[in-house]
Amino acid sequence: MKINDIKKVAVVGCGTMGNGIAQVFAQTGFEVSLIDIKQEFLDKAIATISTNLDRMIKKEKITEDDKKTALDHIKTFTDLGAARDAQLVIEAVTENLNIKLDIFKKLEAVCPPEVIFASNTSSLPITQLAAATKRPAQFVGMHFMNPVPMMKLVELIRGIATGDDTFNLIKELGEKVGKVPVEVNDYPGFIANRILLPMLNEAFYALMEGVGTREAIDEVMKLGMGHPMGPFVLADFIGLDVCLAILEVMHEGLGDPKYRPCPLLRKMVQAGYLGRKTGRGVYDYSS
Ligand code: NAD
Repeated sequence: MKINDIKKVAVVGCGTMGNGIAQVFAQTGFEVSLIDIKQEFLDKAIATISTNLDRMIKKEKITEDDKKTALDHIKTFTDLGAARDAQLVIEAVTENLNIKLDIFKKLEAVCPPEVIFASNTSSLPITQLAAATKRPAQFVGMHFMNPVPMMKLVELIRGIATGDDTFNLIKELGEKVGKVPVEVNDYPGFIANRILLPMLNEAFYALMEGVGTREAIDEVMKLGMGHPMGPFVLADFIGLDVCLAILEVMHEGLGDPKYRPCPLLRKMVQAGYLGRKTGRGVYDYSS
């Protein structure tokens, strides 16, 4: 397959990441089949994309016509069978190994053998997901960053069996949709989370041990290291449950105690303090 053969992309999962991925492909001129389990989720995703595009119109980055063209490129479906006429399928469903394995098994049954499969997983092994299909050479990780339309990076993850043709094609495609693809080999946490999560985890240890208050720790990393936000503000954005899950994957997958999740992080997750999404994480957002 060559880059110009890719005309239609199926995106499975229309949550935070899926709707952003659908938006950037639609804006580049690809036909997008956006698939999720419920029509109401899909309607919400289209509304989110529409709001994002309105914001871009306000900033004079795109016109009303561009918005209409982009939205016209996205069709929504509640059946995985809609992926059958796409040349590339990008999976962006809930971070759960069994759900993803089940989806790839079903996709394998509906998609012709030349179709490329990609997963946006943050922490699951690309090699293991690929092994659930009959096309491991045509399987790659495409780890976009949140918010997808804004963030330039896409980590491209090579599974053990990912073919060079597939990898190079997806790299070209990543550039075509305006991203900067960075090549990464398939090890727990890839690059971004391998380095970010131990830093966030260490911030929780520092807080637990009373080295400083949450505000002090955030202030030091912001003003001293030039980070745009402190580790706790960032962890609350990501979700403390998500941080814990990624650390657990790294701890188990790499077997090194330096990745063990901080007990304070675990306690906050047990309490339901998951971050902005629940109104309370390290900070309180209830007001
Ligand atoms: P989300 O919870 O916002 O969305 C997940 C979507 O998947 C939901 O709409 C859900 O209905 C749908 N879904 C669940 N089971 C499905 C099925 N069987 N068929 C079709 N759709 C199904 O999650 P998200 O934050 O968008 O994360 C999606 C993926 O992206 C995960 O693998 C996550 O690790 C990864 N990721 C997330 C971020 C982030 O910051 N949120 C960043 C990079 C990568």
